[in-house]
Amino acid sequence: PLTTTDLIEEHRICVCVRKRPLNKKELTVKDLDVITIPSKDVVMVHEPKQKVDLTRYLENQTFRFDYAFDDSTTNEMVYRFTARPLVETIFDRGMATCFAYGQTGSGKTHTMGGDFSGKNQDCSKGIYALAARDVFLMLKKPNYKKLDLQVYATFFEIYSGKVFDLLNRKAKLRVLEDGKQQVQVVGLQEREVKCTEDVLKLIETGNSCRTSGQTSANAHSSRSHAVFQIILRRKGKMHGKFSLIDLAGNERGADTSSADRQTRLEGAEINKSLLALKECIRALGRNKPHTPFRASKLTQVLRDSFIGENSRTCMVSTIALKTSSQMLSICEFRVKELTV
Ligand code: ADP
Ligand code: MG
Repeated sequence: PLTTTDLIEEHRICVCVRKRPLNKKELTVKDLDVITIPSKDVVMVHEPKQKVDLTRYLENQTFRFDYAFDDSTTNEMVYRFTARPLVETIFDRGMATCFAYGQTGSGKTHTMGGDFSGKNQDCSKGIYALAARDVFLMLKKPNYKKLDLQVYATFFEIYSGKVFDLLNRKAKLRVLEDGKQQVQVVGLQEREVKCTEDVLKLIETGNSCRTSGQTSANAHSSRSHAVFQIILRRKGKMHGKFSLIDLAGNERGADTSSADRQTRLEGAEINKSLLALKECIRALGRNKPHTPFRASKLTQVLRDSFIGENSRTCMVSTIALKTSSQMLSICEFRVKELTV
């Protein structure tokens, strides 16, 4: 089991993998599970016993990440090693970003937002809520208390390159960049929050807004990025910002043969934004002066999180039993080469 002393030393980018448990259907059909996590930072892709597809060229390969969480790991544990260390960053005037990246159905929303499936919906166990909880705990510490910080939250969605406010009935918002390259989402609702319960309410509001009017909640969320932000302000001025992002499903890349023009365009847009994200994260890790943030709406609105001295990012790649073909694409987010 992991302990807090295992926490990696300070570095700006952390790339982790989280495997979800097999679901009922996978168990019933005895689906082939080609992925195992033998230790806390290693993922193995096994030789498939049946003739399978793309897995072939990854057979019996081992990949190393900052952390690898197996299917028995709780959200609280994933949080402790990924987003938790970044809470300090925003109190120290920094910008923090945490992404969930993975195919649809692999557990991104479960990890970030909490569980929205079934009757017992509970967003209090997701990383959005856990981070908010610790922000309010931290505010009480003498060092930070004397700063007299206020906490605000925003929640918006990026769909087909357009921004929609999830706290304001999906109002479509414009993104402007001024002469000083400051990016602003015009009219984005920033709600003051006083406690974790306030935040939970906003997550629920935003989430129901996200899925309302959709024939299939998953079909829509698989094509949009959801961005939840916790902003600290001091005398009105921004002190720090934590962006927590449930990305669009990364399977769309393969979808270029689809007959439906709309789906194809959306797929292309998602590819573009995930690629831009990858480039921006890598530029951040290498302290490159040029960050290609303009390449997509997602990276454009996150611009201030990719520049600046005190910016840190963590990526939780959610995987399931058939994710082997995605392993290389996950590895591309790592800045330092983690060899086995
Ligand atoms: P995504 O957002 O990536 O499409 P979801 O978070 O909606 O995937 O997860 C798909 C299903 O799997 C949901 O019913 C969710 O509750 C379940 N699930 C995902 N990850 C886990 C996990 N770590 N433990 C238990 N159930 C999970
Ligand atoms: Mg989802």
